[in-house]
Amino acid sequence: MTRKRVALVEDNRDNRLVIRAIFDGRYDLIEYATGVDALLGIQRDHPDLVLLDISLPGMDGTEVLRRLRADPTFAGLPVIALTAHAMRGDRERIFAAGFDEYIPKPIVDEDRLIAAVDHWLASSVVHHGR
Ligand code: MN
Repeated sequence: MTRKRVALVEDNRDNRLVIRAIFDGRYDLIEYATGVDALLGIQRDHPDLVLLDISLPGMDGTEVLRRLRADPTFAGLPVIALTAHAMRGDRERIFAAGFDEYIPKPIVDEDRLIAAVDHWLASSVVHHGR
């Protein structure tokens, strides 16, 4: 069985290392450090799911998502926000922007992260019929 491909968009190297370690052996990880790289890369690589940092230099995560969602090919792609500022009100903004889920940073609960990824990977299989 081929592993699912998860795109990680995160400008912080330490955060990338943490997630890489958590995902090791579980998913194939494709990493992008900027919004522009992510947008081009996702359109090229067609991952099964995206973990998308909100705060990125240049094009932020919300804008990356807006551009992805504007393309019917990626309208149903599961996208989980990574955010350090999940305050009251931010949650609503995150879902209003079109994210499927969010995971607060720093990532202290790796089981929660894996559960969220597995949940949305399963739902994308249903939606895409793969
Ligand atoms: Mn960031």
